[in-house]
Amino acid sequence: MEPEIIPIYHASLILDWGKIIYVDPAWDIDLYKDKPTPDLVLITDIHFDHLNVNVLKNLKGEFLIIAPKAVYNELSDDLKQKTKILNNFEETNFKDFKILALPMYNLTPERLEFHPKGRGNGYLIEKENFRVYIAGDTEDIPEMRNLKNIDIAFLSMNLPWTMSVEQAASAVLEFKPKKVYPYHYRGEKGFSDINKFKELVEKENKDIEVILVNWYE
Ligand code: ZN
Repeated sequence: MEPEIIPIYHASLILDWGKIIYVDPAWDIDLYKDKPTPDLVLITDIHFDHLNVNVLKNLKGEFLIIAPKAVYNELSDDLKQKTKILNNFEETNFKDFKILALPMYNLTPERLEFHPKGRGNGYLIEKENFRVYIAGDTEDIPEMRNLKNIDIAFLSMNLPWTMSVEQAASAVLEFKPKKVYPYHYRGEKGFSDINKFKELVEKENKDIEVILVNWYE
């Protein structure tokens, strides 16, 4: 069974996949008002566009949070109690899902400070052999390029914080997800050219479907 994708804003999204999985619920609790309540909440990193303690405190329902240690350290005591720490390359199960934490970090010298290796997590979520990859804020790291059998990928592409559309396209052409969603694509100088990303990918490999949705309404 494929998840239904519910884009929320920027890097925030929901997977409706038998269970309801929130990724990086942030910004404003009102964005979640008419949404199904979470069973699981995955947090990638400490920055405000990924972690918002106030939003987490106000989410309804019973849920488990999975987050790296650096995120755990920022949480209030009540949130810490429902959090399982998962660091890079650690794996856990939640109901029918396997959750693997992957590294996310910068490679370009002048960007290294934004996302040091080891702090944040990308996530690989698997259920019944269907695999969803949430890249988090990262450049085209080898851990991404070496992925296999990805059904759906979410890739950040904004400068200066993550990577260019060219880097993202080059990585996608190497790890060949069946579907890829650009997300987290508002940069310092406006939106990245996600149409160009789509063109670069589809020109070289027509089997990869690039899905463009507006994350910024
Ligand atoms: Zn971010």
